[in-house]
Amino acid sequence: MTKPSRKAIIIGAGIAGPVAAIFLKRAGIDARVFEAWPYSAGIGGGLQIAPNGMHVLAEIGLADEMIRRGSIAESFDFYSQSGARLGSINRNMEQRFGQPAVNMSRATLNEEIIGKAWCENVELAFEKRLVSIEDRADQPIIAHFADGTSAEGDFLIGADGVHSAVRAHVIPDGPKPFDTGLIGFGGFVPRSMFENTRSDSASRPRSVKAVSLATAFAAPTCKTA
Ligand SMILES: Cc1cc2nc3c(=O)[nH]c(=O)nc-3n(C[C@H](O)[C@H](O)[C@H](O)COP(=O)(O)OP(=O)(O)OC[C@H]3O[C@@H](n4cnc5c(N)ncnc54)[C@H](O)[C@@H]3O)c2cc1C
Repeated sequence: MTKPSRKAIIIGAGIAGPVAAIFLKRAGIDARVFEAWPYSAGIGGGLQIAPNGMHVLAEIGLADEMIRRGSIAESFDFYSQSGARLGSINRNMEQRFGQPAVNMSRATLNEEIIGKAWCENVELAFEKRLVSIEDRADQPIIAHFADGTSAEGDFLIGADGVHSAVRAHVIPDGPKPFDTGLIGFGGFVPRSMFENTRSDSASRPRSVKAVSLATAFAAPTCKTA
């Protein structure tokens, strides 16, 4: 007799949710992802995925695409306000860790990850904001959403970010995120601005963080493995 497949409920379609769903699907677990917001493209700033994260993206077949759509970070160079070079870290990442660190726009990353999840037949439901969880011993777990609907599963994964409703359910008295008072500034520049920049760092005044500006959503082209 074949065992019925287990069902996972994943809350949040940011970075971790759809990726976890892809791996669960591959392991024979039926994973469904529920996201609070409508599907959107083009939202978010930039981020750098470190080599360990790039290994995960490689595992789901997205590393090369993210390198193509982003830019490899050669190092982190620190400068004082007056322009004096203070130091440099994170050099030769690919050589040391098997993957480079890659700068990319969050929108592009999210678009690619969600496209990949769709290609791997992960069910993604948008406009499903988790409001409560019914967690009963030896019975399916039930997630209740703000629109009055609910979903049942054998287990539930919270991938709902820094203000996680799942974490608040599991650890009601746990630590809460707080405002540190620090503000980060960033920006995007067209890659073409750096096309003629030589890659040997000695010849360059400073390293730059350049990411692709391509953010338009296109239906994913699903490649068979
Ligand atoms: C300004 C900034 C810069 C950063 N830069 C980097 C960087 O360079 N490199 C790096 O590795 N990390 C960076 N991080 C951290 C990184 O963004 C997080 O670690 C990462 O996004 C966590 O992924 P996640 O999938 O767990 O959560 P998220 O990406 O936050 O996704 C959570 C998802 O859950 C959804 N959600 C929330 N509540 C509910 C609910 N009740 N019901 C349903 N869905 C819900 C949200 O809408 C969202 O889509 C940065 C973070 C910030 C804020």
